Amino acid sequence: MHAWEVVRPGPVEGEPLRFVERPIPVPGADELLVHVRACGVCRTDLHVSERDLPVRRPRVTPGHEVVGVVAATGEDVLDHAVGDRVGVAWLRRTDGTCGYCARGSENLCPASEYTGWDADGGYAEYTTVPAAFAYRLPGEVDDVALAPLLCAGIIGYRALLRAALPDAGRLGLYGFGGSAHLCAQLALAQGATVHVLTRDPAARRLALELGAASARGAYDEPPEPLDSAILFAPVGDLVPVALRALDRGGILSVAGIHLSDTPPLRYESDLFYEKELRSVTSNTRRDGRDFLALAARHGVRATTHTYPLSEALRALRDLKAGRFDGAAVLVNDFPART
Ligand SMILES: [Zn+2]
Ligand SMILES: [Zn+2]
Repeated sequence: MHAWEVVRPGPVEGEPLRFVERPIPVPGADELLVHVRACGVCRTDLHVSERDLPVRRPRVTPGHEVVGVVAATGEDVLDHAVGDRVGVAWLRRTDGTCGYCARGSENLCPASEYTGWDADGGYAEYTTVPAAFAYRLPGEVDDVALAPLLCAGIIGYRALLRAALPDAGRLGLYGFGGSAHLCAQLALAQGATVHVLTRDPAARRLALELGAASARGAYDEPPEPLDSAILFAPVGDLVPVALRALDRGGILSVAGIHLSDTPPLRYESDLFYEKELRSVTSNTRRDGRDFLALAARHGVRATTHTYPLSEALRALRDLKAGRFDGAAVLVNDFPART
């Protein structure tokens, strides 16, 4: 099969990834072999390719927003069958036994493993996933539209939960890429007023089309104080900017796995009056299931730009350069081989 591997992590303007031929992977006893149909391109793939995240598996295949079809099952798998459509997401495995797992915070499990970082992901014709971490997908939505929901969507949902937006609250979104544009749709469907703050004019237009009440530059002030804000841009300089935009008691959640250093915070202007700054670490499977159900109910749809699987590097370059709004999705246009 064809697969991308990160051979020399570094700037994507160079050639950190290579498109190679590899054997089709063999699923473990508790795993599924998945024929990839579509795989979203997430900013984390860029961080893995450029070594903003440390190398955890040499020559890893990135990709953790996979929509595919079960092509084979390991001998211990009872609850999935060949032909089922499934989603493969970032959280790949946890120990299920530690204190965090026991209290329902499996996203904090110290033994957790991640698709496209610890194990090969979906920038390939086939991938594997532990059956217990595969998502069942609603039948009616197409593969490409679903793929970005599996990380961008789920993480945006968790960031929204962490931001604890009150009913009919005022929500600020800093940065407006794949994750934010899905989060905005859900927040709007639930009755929020959404203000978008981002440098990119095309993203500001998309925000207004989707129903945002305002769209301004990333460092601008929103038109009203915010009850909650989510920082999607990986830009630490925006942390105090967003904190100052909060009303008393407001909460800022930082959605990204990687953030440039934050400047010093000033207690009085940035944190006093019980403002809170929260991080977001991965997600639980429950977040994933809840979000996929809400997205189906409210018709949350990704704005997508497709690339053939063979052009993943171009997709990553375009993501880095901000050359599209919404989310990029790789489409596997090779015929099935099994
Ligand atoms: Zn655990
Ligand atoms: Zn992701």
